[in-house]
Amino acid sequence: MTNNYLKLQFYSLPRNQAFARDAVAAFCLELNPTLSALSDVKTAVSEAVTNCTVHAYRGCSGLITVECEIEDNTLHMKISDEGKGIDDVNQAVQPFFTSAPTDERSGMGFTIMQTFMDEFKVSSEKDKGTVVCMSKTFNAEVENA
Ligand code: ATP
Ligand code: MG
Repeated sequence: MTNNYLKLQFYSLPRNQAFARDAVAAFCLELNPTLSALSDVKTAVSEAVTNCTVHAYRGCSGLITVECEIEDNTLHMKISDEGKGIDDVNQAVQPFFTSAPTDERSGMGFTIMQTFMDEFKVSSEKDKGTVVCMSKTFNAEVENA
């Protein structure tokens, strides 16, 4: 199959989270994913985009970029912002770590992304922004005989 590429860029408005999640899910359909795999991708996108909205652009707004590439039966995603950045990435990816406990955040977003996707990597620079790269390989749904 020919590889495919998608780039989305949108403002960090909460209402764009559902748009990003559903656009990526639609892009994945050519891989004939199981509902479970599609749901994993949608959850991972939601968590990453929500982080941009609530942490990267806390008290302000900015652009979020979602890039997707289909390579054979693998989806690669890169979700980036140009916001506040993360002081300590190793600490941020620990389960239950949150810098916003008063917002009743559980600190599980990165852990969920890591669990639901096959590959996961975060890089960040203070006051420059954050990039989250994730990949998932889809095993095509077996058709009923
Ligand atoms: P939850 O996702 O459970 O609502 P959370 O967002 O605090 O809580 P994570 O998604 O795991 O938990 O993120 C951990 C921490 O990493 C955040 O509290 C925040 O400090 C930092 N962080 C995550 N994404 C970004 C980002 N895009 N820009 C700046 N800081 C971020
Ligand atoms: Mg989060």
